[in-house]
Amino acid sequence: WREVELLASQMATETESADARQLPLIAICGRPNVGKSTLFNRLTGSRRSIVGDEPGITRDRIYGEIEWMGRDARIVDTGGVIPDDEALIPSEIFRQAQVALDEADAIVMVVDGRTELASPDMELSRLLLRGGKPLFLAVNKMDTESMQVQAENFRRLGFRNVLPISAEHGSGIGDLLDEVFDILPEMETEEPEATMLTAEEEMAEDEDGPDFAPVRRLRSHGEYDSKETKIAIIGRPNVGKSTLLNALTGTQRAIVSPIAGTTRDAVDEVVERGGHSFRFVDTAGIRRKGKTKLMAEKLSVIMARKHLEAADVSLLVIDATEGVAALDANIGGYAHESGRSVIIVVNKWDLMTKTGPDGMRLFDGKPPSDQKVYEQQVRDALKYLDYAPLLFISAADGKNIESVFKKVELVARERRKRVTTGQMNRFLERVDFQKASVPMNKRVRIYYMTQAAVAPPTFVLFTDKDVKLHFSFERFLGNQIRDSFGFIGSPIWFKIKARNKK
Ligand code: GDP
Ligand code: GDP
Repeated sequence: WREVELLASQMATETESADARQLPLIAICGRPNVGKSTLFNRLTGSRRSIVGDEPGITRDRIYGEIEWMGRDARIVDTGGVIPDDEALIPSEIFRQAQVALDEADAIVMVVDGRTELASPDMELSRLLLRGGKPLFLAVNKMDTESMQVQAENFRRLGFRNVLPISAEHGSGIGDLLDEVFDILPEMETEEPEATMLTAEEEMAEDEDGPDFAPVRRLRSHGEYDSKETKIAIIGRPNVGKSTLLNALTGTQRAIVSPIAGTTRDAVDEVVERGGHSFRFVDTAGIRRKGKTKLMAEKLSVIMARKHLEAADVSLLVIDATEGVAALDANIGGYAHESGRSVIIVVNKWDLMTKTGPDGMRLFDGKPPSDQKVYEQQVRDALKYLDYAPLLFISAADGKNIESVFKKVELVARERRKRVTTGQMNRFLERVDFQKASVPMNKRVRIYYMTQAAVAPPTFVLFTDKDVKLHFSFERFLGNQIRDSFGFIGSPIWFKIKARNKK
């Protein structure tokens, strides 16, 4: 555990030093299962595909960004590496409180309003109250109005600001944010060149777009060098990540370069091909193995998260002989939520197709696999990655390695694509919203829509209602956008700007 925690904290420090913008920070604390990640996902707008504790799965600190009433903040889920062992919970609680008190400008402690207060709740609140930072108590799982009065019972923890919320249903979140942002320091936010339009471009866009107040351009991840793509190779232990890395870099002499701002053994390997650089991030990390199976699995999740931070495109490696396991789905969920482009790489395909002298397969005696059937199984298990291209390779034999480079180049290009507001308006006129299978009361009217950012493509919808997009509506719209504009391999993000605030 110590090794895992050490890695998690190293990862957090590296993330922070990489982040030059000093936005105010909100920390979410609480014992396991009170709904911290559900709240975090709701606040940062990511989907909830990775909520819930699966055995053997770790979470370390997760950072995200939030915009509320035109102001930005960072948010950290201090949820942490949750020990399987009850006895370790107190030290975890202590660590959480320390993170929050050291770093945050405001702390939101979450409790489960449906259960009795437990000793970790008391412990954590005592530590936080002593720290002197602005505190808010979110009493979660208050799903109905009649339950909300119960939140008052939690005042005995000693917090002045007590707010009933339902992270799952979204109620009370606005009030919580109003109060939290009220005490946050005001900050100027700076935006990277890559996502800013020049004055001319802005005007050109406005010319064929409708007349509306300019949207603040949203931030995208990091700077961009159009000739270089940063690639994360992620996946659980033994799927063949190191073998793939060797196959990708071995054919040419790879240039090894340390990552700027890191002091440890982190190195990138860069392969130049046809005027394009492919930078494989932290190759030492890709080769790092855990000592025990459990440790190796935990490490693979931490490494995936760390590598995603630094990447544009991720290669999610799956072992063909094992199919999609829970841990693959979990790592895939992180890739999806990170906004990076994803390519699913089914490795060890040689073992699924080799036949013996009798025409039977060698591997566990089954007949050779059919790629179409196999792909469908993978897609069913990784539904949220429906935009990700899928490749069958054999890293050990060097089979189909060329196609990996081609796909990386394609998705890197696709995620940087920009659709003009004029194109977007013509698109909107064509979409038949009647076809979206969304309940009437969950529908929103879209007046217009504009692409505010690239990498990942992010669209701002100007709507009649200030509500979160219904999941199937978002999916419907996303698919329509893909049909018209592609964006192969990249998730598509949406933001809502309501005309009439309710
Ligand atoms: P964490 O361990 O604190 O991050 O908790 P999770 O976010 O993983 O949530 C734990 C469980 O509580 C999950 O099964 C959630 O679906 C559930 N949960 C979270 N928020 C709510 C809520 O507002 N209402 C209800 N009824 N359940 C919730
Ligand atoms: P990692 O833990 O994901 O980095 O996995 P490794 O690259 O260490 O590979 C795990 C094992 O799978 C090693 O024994 C490799 O030789 C084997 N392996 C990797 N790729 C292939 C492949 O394409 N075909 C076959 N048959 N074995 C492979």
